Amino acid sequence: MPRFWFGPAGKPITMKTSDILKAPAFLREIGLNAMEYEAVRGVNIKEDKARALGLEARANGVRLSLHAPYFINLAGRKDVVEASIERLKAAVEAAYWMGAYVVVFHPGYYKDAPSKREAVNRVVNALASVVEYRSQLNAKNVWLGPETTGKTSQVGDLNEVLEISSRVEGTRPVVDFAHLYARSGGKFIRSEKDVLKVIEEIEKNLGSWALKPLHIHFSKIEYGKSGEREHHRLDEEGYGPDFKHVCTALCETGVDAVVISESPILEQDALVMLKMCREICGENCIVEQTTE
Ligand SMILES: [Zn+2]
Repeated sequence: MPRFWFGPAGKPITMKTSDILKAPAFLREIGLNAMEYEAVRGVNIKEDKARALGLEARANGVRLSLHAPYFINLAGRKDVVEASIERLKAAVEAAYWMGAYVVVFHPGYYKDAPSKREAVNRVVNALASVVEYRSQLNAKNVWLGPETTGKTSQVGDLNEVLEISSRVEGTRPVVDFAHLYARSGGKFIRSEKDVLKVIEEIEKNLGSWALKPLHIHFSKIEYGKSGEREHHRLDEEGYGPDFKHVCTALCETGVDAVVISESPILEQDALVMLKMCREICGENCIVEQTTE
């Protein structure tokens, strides 16, 4: 039986206080067991607070991940790449303090590289120093997670994410199914078969370890000619993809998954997805909120 973790991308919106340290207990209370800490506008959390958040998360059986700053471009001009490496290092350090298992990041943009191929090579080369820093910190438990991106101008189609993950030690793929859908102009992730294809590609290129667990982002999404426009709630008609396809494929293949909701109603849609998977995969597929 697959095992699932569900939670919001960032501080729950229905939580009364703005204190992030209260988030794990809140999530536990409503029945969720994961949270992605959002450092998307910069890594500003101090060490003592990060450690306190980690303790709260473990005490409440909440699995943490961390989203690195959006302003990262490992395929850009030299100075931009250098600044991006520093941001990613800071994200790794914060993740280490809080015990987050993966640092999710968008690899970069094609525009300043001579070719798409070269853009991927630049990303791979830049990551080498982040991986080295991770070793210096002795933060081997923190994975780097290149994410499938939503815009056609961004490095990060499925193949590129798998290539980066296979070439760089310490990296594992993060699959945002809404982004794959938007990037393809709504042509991919239309069916359970498409999701099975993603799982198959990961297993073929990296091996089954990359599916234990698979880190997933999900919401419905609006797209235009160049891909991603806006994330939408799961109950909004007229947008895709359909989470049912994702859950069915995960259950069928026994893939473990940490599913982060990026819907505008974060934790509420995480609960919708949790219920859906529970109906499809059975009562016991949700990982118990065991405390340490
Ligand atoms: Zn992201």
